[in-house]
Amino acid sequence: MAYRNFSTTQLQEMDNAHHLHPFTDHAGLRGEGVRVVTGAEGAYIFDSEGKRILDGMAGLWCVNVGYGREELAKAAYEQMKELAYYNTFFKSTTAPAAMLAKRIADLAPTNFNQVFFGASGSESNDTSIRTVRYYWQLQGKPEKHIIISRDNAYHGSTIAATSMGGMGAMHGQLGPMLPGFRHVMCPYDFELKHKGESLEDFGIRAARAVEVAILQEGAENVAAFVGEPIQGAGGVKIPPPTYWPEIQRICKKYDILLMLDEVITAFGRTGAWFAAESMSIEADMITVAKAITSGYQPLSAVLVSDRVADVISKGGEYYHGYTYSGHPVTCAVALENIDIIEREGLIERVRDDTGPYLLERLQEVIGDHPLVGEVRGMGLLAAIEIVKDRETGERFPNEGSAAVCVRDHSIEAGMMMRAVGDTMILSPPLIWTRETIDEAAAICKVALDKAAADLLR
Ligand SMILES: *Cc1c(COP(=O)(O)O)cnc(C)c1O
Repeated sequence: MAYRNFSTTQLQEMDNAHHLHPFTDHAGLRGEGVRVVTGAEGAYIFDSEGKRILDGMAGLWCVNVGYGREELAKAAYEQMKELAYYNTFFKSTTAPAAMLAKRIADLAPTNFNQVFFGASGSESNDTSIRTVRYYWQLQGKPEKHIIISRDNAYHGSTIAATSMGGMGAMHGQLGPMLPGFRHVMCPYDFELKHKGESLEDFGIRAARAVEVAILQEGAENVAAFVGEPIQGAGGVKIPPPTYWPEIQRICKKYDILLMLDEVITAFGRTGAWFAAESMSIEADMITVAKAITSGYQPLSAVLVSDRVADVISKGGEYYHGYTYSGHPVTCAVALENIDIIEREGLIERVRDDTGPYLLERLQEVIGDHPLVGEVRGMGLLAAIEIVKDRETGERFPNEGSAAVCVRDHSIEAGMMMRAVGDTMILSPPLIWTRETIDEAAAICKVALDKAAADLLR
């Protein structure tokens, strides 16, 4: 690779001078110097200084089968030689697009048999928004257009996805939001255990906030409710078990479609192909992206239920699509990625072994650490709440700074972890074994001890 001819400093200089990064404070970045990641193998990434780092985030929630998979490189290479690109617009398809659509339909809950492809989670959420609105138009109810979402939701970074998402900081920079979205409380509250409300009651109360919003807007104006089964970028917020069944009941009662954003949870993360399955949620639309190719190629999809697809496919031409919808190389890689997940039994392993073990091990090693207010998880998703006082749940002043301190010590000690507000996040590749989990827990402990030395001084 040509980059081998450049020193770390030269690469950092090019990056500093010319590269605008996503979700980045550039003044801060340029002061510190960017990390140049040059390679990866299995569960580890390597930087240009030769540092080996255990990747606790699977890239960005996506590299489920781990790094360096020859099979995926070969699938891309073979497909590029045979047919690098063709569109799927004008009565054409390609073999990988047709095969992947069938493959996904076979894996998905039984009421899903149609798939619309895109190239990113944001893009596919846009497709999902357009599709539910179009569905109600075709049903003769065009006024049913409002989508109810939650505070703290992350649905992507385009204007529509930002408006549908519930991130205050993103809304603040957006200018006028797109109309047609309404936000209600999210079904997670770390403070809860210090307030005395039961988890069950809280789950029902959070779901009823959706009902209140529907009644205020008028059910005749509401198209859908949208949610991540577990809020990911919002801080791995796992709703109480009472939440989704109540949401389901409310959506049925008022004839509101249920859109699931499974961009993080699909393809194994919760110990099932879809969280819809592991959490028993009956949806009308499901967005997937990230792990569909384990991040080896940019691909996303919206799974459209029979209820919606039957109407859309009888509605004449749907004026919607992307140049790269069903891109053959991305689909060929996705097919091979799904084969790997299946062949290696990664989902069963997460469900029966490594998922429970990750939570158990973290509880054992850091569960009673002075900085830890809570450890929670499902499958290979985990979160650690960082607090100043574990008895009262009091946080450190200057929100987020304590978690950043833990994160920096973790990277230093050899593991990539993410800080979201005062929460540490783990979302590792599904290839992690018990040994990898032991290593990760030990690094968490080192990072927390060092952070405690800094913070509790
Ligand atoms: C990452 C993410 C998205 C956006 O996907 P992009 O590929 O970054 O556009 C949407 N929803 C959820 C839940 C995500 O985690």
